[in-house]
Amino acid sequence: MTVVDAATDLFLGSRCPGCERPGRSLCHVCRTEVMAGHVRFVGRDPSPPHMPLTVAGGDYVGVLPRLISGFKDESLTGLTGLLADRLLRALACLLAALGRPGERFHLVPIPSTAAAVRKRGMDHTHVLARAVAQRTRRDGGLVLPVRRVLRTRGGVADQVGLDAVARWANKFDHVEVRRSGPARSVPILLDDVTTTGASLAAAARALEGADTPVLGAVVVAATVRRHLPASSPAAGAGPR
Ligand SMILES: [Zn+2]
Repeated sequence: MTVVDAATDLFLGSRCPGCERPGRSLCHVCRTEVMAGHVRFVGRDPSPPHMPLTVAGGDYVGVLPRLISGFKDESLTGLTGLLADRLLRALACLLAALGRPGERFHLVPIPSTAAAVRKRGMDHTHVLARAVAQRTRRDGGLVLPVRRVLRTRGGVADQVGLDAVARWANKFDHVEVRRSGPARSVPILLDDVTTTGASLAAAARALEGADTPVLGAVVVAATVRRHLPASSPAAGAGPR
Protein backbone atom coordinates (compact mmCIF):
# COMPACT_ATOMS: atom_id res chain seq x y z
CA MET A 1 0.00 0.00 0.00
CA THR A 2 1.37 3.38 -0.93
CA VAL A 3 1.21 6.42 1.31
CA VAL A 4 -1.34 7.91 -1.08
CA ASP A 5 -3.48 4.76 -0.90
CA ALA A 6 -3.34 4.81 2.89
CA ALA A 7 -4.34 8.46 2.96
CA THR A 8 -7.14 7.78 0.45
CA ASP A 9 -8.46 5.00 2.63
CA LEU A 10 -8.32 7.18 5.71
CA PHE A 11 -10.22 10.07 4.16
CA LEU A 12 -12.40 8.44 1.54
CA GLY A 13 -12.62 4.85 2.72
CA SER A 14 -11.99 3.55 -0.80
CA ARG A 15 -10.98 -0.05 -1.33
CA CYS A 16 -9.88 -2.36 -4.11
CA PRO A 17 -13.12 -3.92 -5.43
CA GLY A 18 -11.39 -7.28 -5.70
CA CYS A 19 -9.69 -7.79 -2.33
CA GLU A 20 -10.72 -4.72 -0.32
CA ARG A 21 -7.17 -3.59 0.21
CA PRO A 22 -7.18 0.18 0.76
CA GLY A 23 -6.57 2.02 -2.48
CA ARG A 24 -8.03 4.23 -5.14
CA SER A 25 -8.87 1.48 -7.59
CA LEU A 26 -8.21 -2.14 -8.49
CA CYS A 27 -4.92 -3.19 -6.90
CA HIS A 28 -2.11 -4.63 -8.98
CA VAL A 29 -2.47 -8.07 -7.34
CA CYS A 30 -6.10 -8.40 -8.41
CA ARG A 31 -5.41 -6.93 -11.83
CA THR A 32 -2.57 -9.38 -12.38
CA GLU A 33 -4.74 -12.31 -11.32
CA VAL A 34 -7.43 -11.38 -13.82
CA MET A 35 -4.95 -10.70 -16.61
CA ALA A 36 -3.36 -14.11 -16.02
CA GLY A 37 -6.69 -15.93 -16.46
CA HIS A 38 -6.86 -18.68 -19.05
CA VAL A 39 -9.09 -18.37 -22.08
CA ARG A 40 -10.91 -21.63 -22.65
CA PHE A 41 -13.70 -23.33 -24.53
CA VAL A 42 -16.78 -23.92 -22.42
CA GLY A 43 -18.23 -27.38 -22.39
CA ARG A 44 -21.37 -28.20 -20.47
CA ASP A 45 -22.53 -31.60 -19.37
CA PRO A 46 -25.38 -31.80 -19.91
CA SER A 47 -25.19 -29.27 -22.73
CA PRO A 48 -28.47 -27.46 -23.43
CA PRO A 49 -29.84 -27.84 -26.95
CA HIS A 50 -28.75 -24.93 -29.21
CA MET A 51 -25.71 -24.17 -27.01
CA PRO A 52 -23.27 -22.36 -29.33
CA LEU A 53 -19.51 -22.78 -29.43
CA THR A 54 -18.51 -20.67 -26.44
CA VAL A 55 -15.20 -19.26 -25.26
CA ALA A 56 -14.66 -17.81 -21.77
CA GLY A 57 -12.08 -15.16 -20.91
CA GLY A 58 -11.46 -16.80 -17.56
CA ASP A 59 -12.75 -19.05 -14.83
CA TYR A 60 -15.41 -17.83 -12.45
CA VAL A 61 -13.13 -18.22 -9.44
CA GLY A 62 -10.87 -16.06 -7.29
CA VAL A 63 -11.25 -12.35 -7.69
CA LEU A 64 -13.19 -12.36 -10.97
CA PRO A 65 -16.67 -13.05 -9.48
CA ARG A 66 -16.29 -10.08 -7.14
CA LEU A 67 -15.23 -7.81 -9.97
CA ILE A 68 -18.08 -8.90 -12.23
CA SER A 69 -20.52 -8.37 -9.38
CA GLY A 70 -19.04 -4.97 -8.61
CA PHE A 71 -19.31 -3.93 -12.24
CA LYS A 72 -22.85 -5.26 -12.65
CA ASP A 73 -24.49 -4.54 -9.32
CA GLU A 74 -22.49 -1.59 -7.98
CA SER A 75 -21.92 0.21 -11.29
CA LEU A 76 -18.13 0.09 -10.99
CA THR A 77 -17.74 1.11 -14.61
CA GLY A 78 -14.02 1.63 -14.08
CA LEU A 79 -13.78 -2.14 -14.47
CA THR A 80 -15.24 -2.08 -17.99
CA GLY A 81 -11.85 -2.10 -19.71
CA LEU A 82 -10.52 -5.02 -17.69
CA LEU A 83 -13.61 -7.17 -18.26
CA ALA A 84 -13.71 -6.18 -21.94
CA ASP A 85 -10.11 -7.33 -22.22
CA ARG A 86 -11.13 -10.85 -21.14
CA LEU A 87 -13.90 -10.80 -23.73
CA LEU A 88 -11.50 -9.62 -26.43
CA ARG A 89 -9.19 -12.54 -25.70
CA ALA A 90 -12.11 -14.92 -25.82
CA LEU A 91 -13.29 -13.38 -29.08
CA ALA A 92 -9.85 -13.73 -30.68
CA CYS A 93 -9.81 -17.40 -29.67
CA LEU A 94 -13.32 -17.99 -31.00
CA LEU A 95 -12.58 -16.33 -34.35
CA ALA A 96 -9.34 -18.28 -34.70
CA ALA A 97 -11.16 -21.54 -33.95
CA LEU A 98 -13.89 -20.79 -36.48
CA GLY A 99 -11.32 -20.02 -39.16
CA ARG A 100 -13.55 -17.65 -41.08
CA PRO A 101 -11.37 -14.58 -41.71
CA GLY A 102 -13.05 -11.67 -43.42
CA GLU A 103 -16.47 -12.50 -42.02
CA ARG A 104 -18.34 -9.46 -40.74
CA PHE A 105 -19.99 -9.95 -37.38
CA HIS A 106 -21.90 -8.08 -34.72
CA LEU A 107 -22.01 -8.67 -30.99
CA VAL A 108 -25.35 -9.51 -29.42
CA PRO A 109 -25.38 -8.95 -25.67
CA ILE A 110 -27.49 -11.34 -23.61
CA PRO A 111 -30.27 -9.11 -22.29
CA SER A 112 -31.28 -8.63 -18.69
CA THR A 113 -34.90 -8.04 -17.78
CA ALA A 114 -36.07 -4.43 -17.92
CA ALA A 115 -36.55 -4.54 -14.15
CA ALA A 116 -32.93 -5.62 -13.60
CA VAL A 117 -31.63 -2.87 -15.89
CA ARG A 118 -33.71 -0.29 -14.01
CA LYS A 119 -32.49 -1.54 -10.67
CA ARG A 120 -28.84 -1.47 -11.72
CA GLY A 121 -29.11 1.74 -13.69
CA MET A 122 -27.06 0.04 -16.39
CA ASP A 123 -27.51 -2.50 -19.15
CA HIS A 124 -24.23 -4.15 -18.24
CA THR A 125 -23.81 -6.62 -21.11
CA HIS A 126 -24.57 -3.86 -23.61
CA VAL A 127 -21.88 -1.69 -22.00
CA LEU A 128 -19.38 -4.55 -22.29
CA ALA A 129 -20.36 -5.32 -25.88
CA ARG A 130 -19.89 -1.71 -26.91
CA ALA A 131 -16.46 -1.60 -25.28
CA VAL A 132 -15.42 -4.82 -27.04
CA ALA A 133 -16.76 -3.61 -30.40
CA GLN A 134 -14.98 -0.30 -30.04
CA ARG A 135 -11.64 -1.93 -29.33
CA THR A 136 -12.13 -4.56 -32.04
CA ARG A 137 -12.86 -1.86 -34.60
CA ARG A 138 -9.86 0.13 -33.46
CA ASP A 139 -7.70 -2.93 -34.09
CA GLY A 140 -9.12 -3.39 -37.58
CA GLY A 141 -11.69 -6.08 -36.81
CA LEU A 142 -14.80 -6.48 -38.94
CA VAL A 143 -17.29 -5.85 -36.17
CA LEU A 144 -20.44 -3.82 -36.72
CA PRO A 145 -22.25 -1.61 -34.18
CA VAL A 146 -23.94 -3.25 -31.22
CA ARG A 147 -27.72 -3.35 -31.25
CA ARG A 148 -30.15 -4.62 -28.67
CA VAL A 149 -31.26 -7.49 -30.87
CA LEU A 150 -32.72 -9.62 -28.06
CA ARG A 151 -34.96 -8.99 -25.13
CA THR A 152 -35.90 -10.98 -22.08
CA ARG A 153 -39.55 -10.93 -21.31
CA GLY A 154 -40.62 -10.67 -17.69
CA GLY A 155 -41.62 -13.69 -15.72
CA VAL A 156 -38.28 -15.48 -15.73
CA ALA A 157 -37.96 -17.07 -12.32
CA ASP A 158 -34.77 -16.69 -10.33
CA GLN A 159 -32.24 -19.18 -11.72
CA VAL A 160 -30.56 -19.79 -8.38
CA GLY A 161 -31.15 -23.28 -7.05
CA LEU A 162 -32.54 -24.67 -10.31
CA ASP A 163 -30.95 -27.69 -11.95
CA ALA A 164 -29.76 -27.49 -15.55
CA VAL A 165 -32.91 -28.80 -17.20
CA ALA A 166 -35.11 -26.48 -15.13
CA ARG A 167 -32.94 -23.55 -16.15
CA TRP A 168 -33.35 -24.36 -19.83
CA ALA A 169 -37.10 -24.55 -19.51
CA ASN A 170 -37.10 -21.35 -17.50
CA LYS A 171 -35.13 -19.45 -20.09
CA PHE A 172 -36.19 -20.77 -23.45
CA ASP A 173 -39.59 -19.19 -23.70
CA HIS A 174 -38.53 -15.84 -22.37
CA VAL A 175 -35.83 -14.71 -24.79
CA GLU A 176 -37.00 -13.26 -28.07
CA VAL A 177 -35.71 -11.26 -31.02
CA ARG A 178 -36.87 -7.64 -30.81
CA ARG A 179 -35.09 -6.29 -33.90
CA SER A 180 -32.72 -7.48 -36.58
CA GLY A 181 -28.96 -7.09 -36.35
CA PRO A 182 -26.85 -5.21 -38.90
CA ALA A 183 -27.29 -6.55 -42.43
CA ARG A 184 -24.78 -8.93 -44.02
CA SER A 185 -23.12 -9.87 -40.76
CA VAL A 186 -23.43 -12.78 -38.38
CA PRO A 187 -24.19 -12.57 -34.65
CA ILE A 188 -21.81 -13.51 -31.86
CA LEU A 189 -23.38 -13.69 -28.42
CA LEU A 190 -21.78 -11.95 -25.46
CA ASP A 191 -22.45 -12.39 -21.75
CA ASP A 192 -20.73 -11.76 -18.45
CA VAL A 193 -20.98 -15.24 -16.90
CA THR A 194 -22.19 -18.61 -18.03
CA THR A 195 -23.10 -21.38 -15.64
CA THR A 196 -25.26 -24.01 -17.32
CA GLY A 197 -25.23 -22.33 -20.74
CA ALA A 198 -29.02 -21.87 -20.57
CA SER A 199 -29.02 -18.14 -21.39
CA LEU A 200 -26.66 -18.58 -24.35
CA ALA A 201 -28.65 -21.54 -25.65
CA ALA A 202 -31.93 -19.66 -25.34
CA ALA A 203 -30.48 -16.67 -27.20
CA ALA A 204 -29.00 -18.87 -29.93
CA ARG A 205 -32.33 -20.64 -30.33
CA ALA A 206 -34.21 -17.35 -30.66
CA LEU A 207 -31.79 -16.10 -33.32
CA GLU A 208 -31.95 -19.37 -35.21
CA GLY A 209 -35.71 -18.92 -35.24
CA ALA A 210 -35.16 -15.56 -36.93
CA ASP A 211 -32.91 -17.15 -39.58
CA THR A 212 -29.77 -15.59 -38.12
CA PRO A 213 -27.82 -18.47 -36.59
CA VAL A 214 -24.99 -17.41 -34.31
CA LEU A 215 -21.31 -17.92 -35.03
CA GLY A 216 -20.56 -18.56 -31.37
CA ALA A 217 -20.46 -16.88 -27.99
CA VAL A 218 -17.99 -15.19 -25.67
CA VAL A 219 -18.26 -14.65 -21.93
CA VAL A 220 -16.08 -12.92 -19.39
CA ALA A 221 -16.03 -16.01 -17.19
CA ALA A 222 -17.47 -19.48 -16.97
CA THR A 223 -18.12 -21.46 -13.84
CA VAL A 224 -15.66 -24.28 -13.57
CA ARG A 225 -16.95 -27.58 -14.81
CA ARG A 226 -15.71 -30.09 -17.29
CA HIS A 227 -14.05 -28.36 -20.19
CA LEU A 228 -11.68 -28.82 -23.08
CA PRO A 229 -8.46 -26.83 -23.17
CA ALA A 230 -8.39 -24.15 -25.87
CA SER A 231 -5.44 -25.91 -27.52
CA SER A 232 -7.37 -29.14 -27.99
CA PRO A 233 -8.01 -29.93 -31.67
CA ALA A 234 -11.30 -31.52 -30.63
CA ALA A 235 -12.45 -28.45 -28.77
CA GLY A 236 -14.18 -26.82 -31.69
CA ALA A 237 -16.45 -29.78 -32.22
CA GLY A 238 -17.25 -30.45 -28.60
CA PRO A 239 -19.48 -27.96 -26.89
CA ARG A 240 -22.01 -27.07 -29.58
ZN1 LIG B 1 -7.16 -6.12 -4.92
